[in-house]
Amino acid sequence: MAAFSEDRADVIARARECGVATIINVGTDLVSSREATGLAESHAEVLAAVGFHPHEAGGVSESDIASLAQLAGHPRVVAIGEVGLDFYRDYSPREGQLQALGWQLALAAELGLPVVIHCRQAEGQMLPLLRDWTSRREPSKRESPGVIHCFSGDIDTARQYLDMGFFISFGAYIGYPASSRKHGVIRSIPQDRLVVETDSPFLPPQSRRGKRNEPAFLPLTVELLAEIRGVPPEQIARETTANARCLFRLPGD
Ligand SMILES: [Zn+2]
Repeated sequence: MAAFSEDRADVIARARECGVATIINVGTDLVSSREATGLAESHAEVLAAVGFHPHEAGGVSESDIASLAQLAGHPRVVAIGEVGLDFYRDYSPREGQLQALGWQLALAAELGLPVVIHCRQAEGQMLPLLRDWTSRREPSKRESPGVIHCFSGDIDTARQYLDMGFFISFGAYIGYPASSRKHGVIRSIPQDRLVVETDSPFLPPQSRRGKRNEPAFLPLTVELLAEIRGVPPEQIARETTANARCLFRLPGD
């Protein structure tokens, strides 16, 4: 994203110094997805996810999806995302969001890639859609269908995603005062389904609200999770790393 245009290489170097071994950089449209694969080509620790974000879903056509499919075949692409529904901001017409999501879910299934799901105030539509999609996946495919990114739902919603095989991802926003009532949800996620993210440049840690977020701040989220779940941060770091490798089908280290 443009927020990193001035110092992208430094941001990646700082992340490495802070113990972030791998970055999954997501696209939001065709241009940013192409840029994400380019960055992944030039940095060994960066991988790409490609997709049309719900905010960008308005004008997406079938030929755009064909272009995305071509990009998704790139060896540095590990997921289709972010894709989803955002009925909170409603930047794109809902019909367009549903159409783009449907096409991209079909593409992910065809290519055997996991999906990174963005969902805001659209659980009612998302849950049945994903339930239908996951139920039609080949039974031989034991891999996870994907991850619910920046999860902010309740325990019951989390349970339904978990039952479909999804991982649940949290970011530094779990440290915002308003998130204190979500600790029960955070504790309810099984340790083998939990992953962490920054959502950079968005959703910075509480101490940096209003400023740019970046991958080097990821350890703060690990510490928050450790505190909320009552386990050592080293354990959270180890488990979420292993989970991310499983989710994105990366070789172990
Ligand atoms: Zn998102």
